[in-house]
Amino acid sequence: MQNQTVAFSKNSSNLFFHILTKCNLSCSHCYINKKQHGDRTLSIETIRDWLGLFSQKAAQTNLVLLGGEPTLHPDLHLAVKEAGHLKFKSITIDTNGFLFHDILEKIIPDDLDFLSFSLDGATQDTNDLIRGKGSYDAVFSGIQKAREKGFSCSMIYTVSDKNIHELDQMPTLVKKLGIDRFFIQVIGMRGESSKSRALQVSKDLWLKTIPEIAEKIADQGIIVTYPKVFLSNDDQFQCAANVAKNYFVFPNGRVYQCPICEDFPLHSHEIRDNKLVAMPQINEMDLFKLDIPEGCVMNKMIQPGNLAYEKDGRPRHKIACCMLKQELIP
Ligand code: SF4
Ligand code: SF4
Repeated sequence: MQNQTVAFSKNSSNLFFHILTKCNLSCSHCYINKKQHGDRTLSIETIRDWLGLFSQKAAQTNLVLLGGEPTLHPDLHLAVKEAGHLKFKSITIDTNGFLFHDILEKIIPDDLDFLSFSLDGATQDTNDLIRGKGSYDAVFSGIQKAREKGFSCSMIYTVSDKNIHELDQMPTLVKKLGIDRFFIQVIGMRGESSKSRALQVSKDLWLKTIPEIAEKIADQGIIVTYPKVFLSNDDQFQCAANVAKNYFVFPNGRVYQCPICEDFPLHSHEIRDNKLVAMPQINEMDLFKLDIPEGCVMNKMIQPGNLAYEKDGRPRHKIACCMLKQELIP
């Protein structure tokens, strides 16, 4: 099994394209913040135009279509086809499992690299408490339908103090479901989850649980990715925004390069009249340049409770860039 940190590369790019913010669920940790990102649903013409803005480097760019719930968009299938024409490196749809508008009837497995389902508990009780009634069943039936049609499926499990205790049931469950990739996410302090620090798990619990479970899932023949989160003081820190190109595009036209900035009007670009326009200072790019002993600047600004210090004032650990991932390939 390969167990490696995925280094940032200037030749790689990720485009997270929120085509709407509407959703049928209201998860307790939802990252959507309508005050900052609006409630617009982009027309298919606008989606095509905006994809075009990022198409120069399409061959190096992994595209994730998300929302809100992207399958609530009646023209999602046309967005997927357009991304295929533009030859993005990979195309993924992130879904909560409800698969509205018969999306699986309108695209074929060759159109898509992954259909990625969010599940936040191994049991119905835990998942539905976090994500809403019916969401557990929707994910199970959605994966079954997608697999019957030949789609590759992945799963995202967002770890919080509400569901970390069920992670040890996931190796068996994901094997049964026939998932190809498994992503563990750390609960981000944005959107709804920014209202409660209690959801975050401690460093000790994270380090005691996540690497071990990730290995057990990879032992089932599944590729597993999880965020590094904590770096030792000897580890080299890098801010992804200074090295790679990651874009988080919202339907009100805001374009961020750091997901932790999304709750603030700190976006570095905005799409205006179908053009990508750089924002004046001060914006997130001014923060990426700061070199601090704690690692991630945004973490220090909005989640200082994650940090611990020695008596002489040195941080006990650095916080990694939230985009830094550990990947286990069976
Ligand atoms: S499914 Fe996604 S967009 Fe919808 S409420 Fe849950 S986290 Fe938010
Ligand atoms: S999470 Fe921190 S390190 Fe990563 S891009 Fe944002 S500011 Fe940079």
